[in-house]
Amino acid sequence: MPNKKRLLLSQLPAVDQVLREQYAQSLVKEYGNAAVTRALRNLLANWRQQILQELWSEGELVAALADLSAALKQQVQLEQRPSLRPVVNATGVIIHTNLGRSLLPQVAQAQMAAVASTYSTLEVDVESGDRGSRYSHVQELLCELTGAEDALVVNNNAGAVLLTLAALGRGREVIVSRGQLVEIGGSFRIPEVMEQSGCYLVEVGTTNKTHLHDYERAIGPETAALLKVHTSNYRLVGFTESVDGADLAALAHRHNLVAVEDLGSGVLLDLRRFGHIYEPTVQESLAAGMDVVTFSGDKLLGGPQAGIIVGKSCYLAKLRQHPLTRALRIDKLTLAALEATLRLYRDEATAIQQIPTLRMLAVQPTELRARAQQLVAHIEPRVKDLADITIVDTLAQVGGGSLPGYDLASVAVAVMPKNISAVELERRLRLGAVPVFTRIYRDQVMLDLRTIQPSEESLVQEALCQALTGR
Ligand SMILES: *Cc1c(COP(=O)(O)O)cnc(C)c1O
Repeated sequence: MPNKKRLLLSQLPAVDQVLREQYAQSLVKEYGNAAVTRALRNLLANWRQQILQELWSEGELVAALADLSAALKQQVQLEQRPSLRPVVNATGVIIHTNLGRSLLPQVAQAQMAAVASTYSTLEVDVESGDRGSRYSHVQELLCELTGAEDALVVNNNAGAVLLTLAALGRGREVIVSRGQLVEIGGSFRIPEVMEQSGCYLVEVGTTNKTHLHDYERAIGPETAALLKVHTSNYRLVGFTESVDGADLAALAHRHNLVAVEDLGSGVLLDLRRFGHIYEPTVQESLAAGMDVVTFSGDKLLGGPQAGIIVGKSCYLAKLRQHPLTRALRIDKLTLAALEATLRLYRDEATAIQQIPTLRMLAVQPTELRARAQQLVAHIEPRVKDLADITIVDTLAQVGGGSLPGYDLASVAVAVMPKNISAVELERRLRLGAVPVFTRIYRDQVMLDLRTIQPSEESLVQEALCQALTGR
């Protein structure tokens, strides 16, 4: 090793020596010895690397050492920070899978917190004192809201599909259109789920067109079910044809088969009432005659992650008895949040007001523009030499594999920094105390108001000022 590097390395203090300092001791009081020691070791290891890789010369090391107390405090705080933590979603993608899909309504958060810290009625019948079922808390509500005979909930919709196929079709054939052999994010592919469930996939039709007679011809003695999968994350356009739910269900029933539908998102309200395009609802799918319908809790429903299964009691009874139900069991916190979310749907206006996902779908561009103006009025005086800030019309998306290719008119604050690149500003916003996720469009950082919650606006202002001033 060259002498110069060795000399610099020898100037790094020993851990014990730093720990004896006053500032280190006061950090130990607050965070404990283990946390401060670990942070200090990591900090010094980091500095050692800077020297070894010749990124630091003497000047930098001296400056760093002079600031050791502040650097140590920062390192300790950084290491205390949870890995899974809140961020601001300014991307305009409402059901953003990587940022956690749906935000829970306030009543759901409260109900979750309530049962988290106390014992609860999870599996007990309060009237009799006997053992009850955890599924009972949402069963009636789901039946009331969807018109189903029976309901069951599991961990997520991927699990719901797996369980349904395993319980109703294991060792037998399930017929699916070639246009619906969906892959959704995280490698959930219908053919593979089918294999895992022990069913034999029978593909019918072509990629773009499947007719009722395609299904009919494929039905044989080994057939257990006809499966319809909502092509939630892609669209077939052009010369296409698919069989609608009512015809498929009628065909299944003529042959004593089960008609199953994986709806994906599972919306309970007609989105056309917000001026958006049509998305089939759970109620319609059941009314069309589907025997078992599965959907997600945290997509367009706007609740916690869950897989909801509704349909005929005779089939759901089989699902309930299947060992996979136990393996895919929903936990009590999710159940609390789901019950609270579903209760909101008893009154449509309340649901739209209180369920963040619906609120973000319903909000009008005029309101978003007013909020953007507020935001700009607060920031502009503070950063006007550092960036050009404008309000622009933009397009938001539903996301989460729902309504693909459909854009929602939205409004964004567009920030074009003067001294740094848009890429650098985007990075700084992401690495701030509360990360703000944005997107870049033509050298501007776009903050879409549709997914920024009104309660986050002052936080966004601070984050933007800090990122632009570089503090
Ligand atoms: C999203 C989706 C699923 C999986 O739902 P999760 O709740 O994410 O497990 C399954 N099928 C379709 C069609 C979907 O869109």
